[in-house]
Amino acid sequence: MKRYSVFAIARAALDWHQGWDRAWASPAPKKRYDAIIIGAGGHGLATAYYLGKNHGITNVAVLEKGWLGGGNTGRNTTIIRSNYLQDPSAAIYEKARSLYETMSQDLNMNVMFSPRGVMMLAQTEHEVRGYRRTAHANALQGVVTEFIGPERVKELCPIININGPRYPVLGALWQARGGTGRHDAVAWGYARACSAMGMDIIQNCEVTGVTSAGGKVTGVTTTRGDIGCDKLGIVVAGHSGQVADMAGFRLPVESLCLQALVSEPIKPCMDVVVMANTVHGYMSQSDKGEMVIGGGTDGFNNFTQRGSFHHIEETLRALVETFPMISRLKMLRQWGGIVDMTGDRSPIISKTPLGGCFINCGWGTGGFKAIPGSGWAMAELMAKGEPGPLAAEFSMYRFREGKFIDESVAAGVAH
Ligand SMILES: Cc1cc2nc3c(=O)[nH]c(=O)nc-3n(C[C@H](O)[C@H](O)[C@H](O)COP(=O)(O)OP(=O)(O)OC[C@H]3O[C@@H](n4cnc5c(N)ncnc54)[C@H](O)[C@@H]3O)c2cc1C
Repeated sequence: MKRYSVFAIARAALDWHQGWDRAWASPAPKKRYDAIIIGAGGHGLATAYYLGKNHGITNVAVLEKGWLGGGNTGRNTTIIRSNYLQDPSAAIYEKARSLYETMSQDLNMNVMFSPRGVMMLAQTEHEVRGYRRTAHANALQGVVTEFIGPERVKELCPIININGPRYPVLGALWQARGGTGRHDAVAWGYARACSAMGMDIIQNCEVTGVTSAGGKVTGVTTTRGDIGCDKLGIVVAGHSGQVADMAGFRLPVESLCLQALVSEPIKPCMDVVVMANTVHGYMSQSDKGEMVIGGGTDGFNNFTQRGSFHHIEETLRALVETFPMISRLKMLRQWGGIVDMTGDRSPIISKTPLGGCFINCGWGTGGFKAIPGSGWAMAELMAKGEPGPLAAEFSMYRFREGKFIDESVAAGVAH
């Protein structure tokens, strides 16, 4: 694989940029692999990458029914933070955030990680208490956050109206090294690095069944033929229920559409990410100048991967008191992705009732930020057959045992 660098670009310019290799190969599936990952989203690709990099397992295929990064990984609003309340969450999200810091260098792909700072507004007394508590918990967990007052909020984000009549800004939980990254570059970077290690990324290859013998996985059936494997990782986000069903078990996961929208591009006016959880909306400004806006999931289970009018109205209505300037913006486009929600709004990285078959899902509305940490933990689970410290608490059996990691109560919004 040719390394990307300023010198490589200069050299390639002499040849009118005709000599670049394809970023990743498009091979036909082999008959058998040591490990198969279903789903070439960020989590699936990161799992494959760390299987190779950390555990030396490179006879791996990643099977994708569409195009890589075409699921939620290419549809999210790219917020990266690790200011979670519960210890297991803070550990895995902080691991991920720290891997984002050096990801562009590690993958030799500019993922545009932008640690511009994330603030979660406190707009009720209850939130003030909650976020002060989270700041204390973060201090114990080694996650750098602080609770800031309304004047500092205004200083960091001048377009905010802190004196709203219904929801005045009383402060915020501020994580200075949180921010955003370029979502599809993350998928492309991992795909390119996996391909360079000799792994097969096979697009347009839908898994239609899981085969097993004696309680152990033996392979998958796909739209491109049967493929054998010793280990199987299911990493398909909103379609986890269906693929788990193929493997013969049920998951405590619901699939819902989560939508987002962007405005027309405007001059730079906001260089932080702001989440307003009481009114249920959040906003940042993209490098192109668009205001990137999101809210909550649809109120009913569905698989409609597209936007709807009620969402524009609900989300802008929620945010307009705090950001009056958005009332004068035209909205440019909206979209949706199918997210996989668990009851405690925490993910699943787990062994399953089928031997050799592992599952990674339940990242819901907030899994972009987790991609590197999740891939790291899932690769360890698949390689060793047992979860390491990052994944230990995220077993799917916690719902049976009542050992919830309850981030739904802690944050309200989980992006
Ligand atoms: C609108 C929106 C905004 C969001 N905002 C944020 C945010 O700001 N910050 C954040 O951290 N997170 C955010 N998220 C959540 C985040 O996008 C997801 O948690 C994350 O991308 C999940 O990644 P994944 O790799 O698990 O899933 P995906 O990227 O969805 O990948 C799963 C892949 O599996 C494939 N697949 C499914 N079934 C099969 C099959 N049978 N055979 C083969 N392949 C199959 C799919 O085609 C898909 O490509 C947002 C999500 C949405 C929709």
